[in-house]
Amino acid sequence: MAEAKEIETFDELRNLRLADEGYFVITDSVRPAIIHKVNATCIKVDSFNLKVTIDGRKEGSYFWVDNIATAAREFQARRCKVCKPELNLVDSSTFGQ
Ligand SMILES: [Zn+2]
Repeated sequence: MAEAKEIETFDELRNLRLADEGYFVITDSVRPAIIHKVNATCIKVDSFNLKVTIDGRKEGSYFWVDNIATAAREFQARRCKVCKPELNLVDSSTFGQ
């Protein structure tokens, strides 16, 4: 079953990384949403704190999704060019360039 869940605290982020399942989607008010591997180095604690804790998720937020198809459908998320989540679950055209 498709699932997406907003991450509201650093503890949640940390626990999801430890579990090492699914993907993160980072949304942004001025840029397309991006999907990352949960343990990618591009998931930065400072960025999370700024967006979620300091800005109160007004400029974007962090979500956990069970798979890439959910990220594409719920967020029209693009694949991160740095950590390169797998594409085998959806048509690659979903992610644009
Ligand atoms: Zn990434």
